[in-house]
Amino acid sequence: NTPLHELDPDVAAAVDAELHRQQSTLEMIASENFAPVAVMEAQGSVLTNKYAEGYPGRRYYGGCEHVDVVEQIAIDRVKALFGAEHANVQPHSGAQANAAAMFALLKPGDTIMGLNLAHGGHLTHGMKINFSGKLYNVVPYHVDGESGQVDMAEVERLAKESRPQLIVAGWSAYPRQLDFAAFRRIADEVGAYLMVDMAHFAGLVAAGLHPNPVPHAHVVTTTTHKTLGGPRGGVILSTAALAKKINSAVFPGQQGGPLEHVIAGKAVAFKVAASDDFKDRQQRTLDGARILAERLVRADVAEHGVSVLSGGTDVHLVLVDLRNSQLDGRQAEDRLHEVGITVNRNAIPNDPRPPMVTSGLRIGTPALATRGFGDEDFAEVADVIAEALKPEFDRDALAARVAALAARHPLYPSL
Ligand code: PLP
Repeated sequence: NTPLHELDPDVAAAVDAELHRQQSTLEMIASENFAPVAVMEAQGSVLTNKYAEGYPGRRYYGGCEHVDVVEQIAIDRVKALFGAEHANVQPHSGAQANAAAMFALLKPGDTIMGLNLAHGGHLTHGMKINFSGKLYNVVPYHVDGESGQVDMAEVERLAKESRPQLIVAGWSAYPRQLDFAAFRRIADEVGAYLMVDMAHFAGLVAAGLHPNPVPHAHVVTTTTHKTLGGPRGGVILSTAALAKKINSAVFPGQQGGPLEHVIAGKAVAFKVAASDDFKDRQQRTLDGARILAERLVRADVAEHGVSVLSGGTDVHLVLVDLRNSQLDGRQAEDRLHEVGITVNRNAIPNDPRPPMVTSGLRIGTPALATRGFGDEDFAEVADVIAEALKPEFDRDALAARVAALAARHPLYPSL
């Protein structure tokens, strides 16, 4: 029972340093968030010790009476949150959820359609060396160069030409909402399943601030740690008709024992996600992204070749276009890092620079909204980013403004 600091000071020191980094900088990686202390408490519980292959009431191990309760609570809550007929809460991550969903619906060699990685799709939507690109015949669709939005005419044309078994609608770097009804109509016309990967925007859906894909899709996958703000993990939602296929694809198809301690954290996060406070937080997330986009398209920023893809945002992130800027994606990421703001560089459609450099930045607001940021704070952080992206910038002055914002919204004060 030796505490971590005594048993392993090396690991403890790195954990402490990471806590300090999170507290003292501004986290704007669009896929990150801060889990509530209660979620971390559940994750750090004795449930980590328990093997529970199978599903509640039908396990392959004894002693599952308490983890059954936890897993059933998680299932019931997530079904209610999104209005789904069936939920599997066992996938260890978003990638595992997508692998299991595809394993349930497809055979190797089948054709899938997904948003091209360089246009905002995820690795698991058909990237060449990902399992999805190796096992399936991938027909990627794209965003339109003019509007920056998914080209639904292309989706329809490619679907009719290639007759896919599955169409994936979802994204990792895209600032707009997708038309789920249009995707379903196209899927029905060609006899394909529609899978929506709502990993990024699930929190917005839970708060009622983004269209819900569940009524339109055969299967919906998500992570639980992005806008949803829970522990790292995945979930698959589906129609009742697909429940058996999905469950057996997760276990025994893809995974062994479920992480019941993480499932406990998911259950807590789903409870939080049904609250009014969560809705307020998601509203601040959206407002913050809109304010950021508005301030980055102002003339004094635009004159230095900075613009925003699609001209704005409907979600929790902004994609900054640096194709006409002196700064490339890597330099811009480094500059923001130097003033205490963490973002990631991101390839943008038709990016002239190589993937390790890029001409884009993906900037998200979920973690700062969780920290309590409101309109004024987001306006200030947007102005700091705008100044940092100009050719000349005052590093120390901007770092001081970032430190003041971090101090105004303390993170994890009890830790
Ligand atoms: N799906 C989408 C759309 C994502 O953006 C991500 C992660 O970035 C994933 C799936 C994979 O999630 P994980 O990193 O938990 O495997």
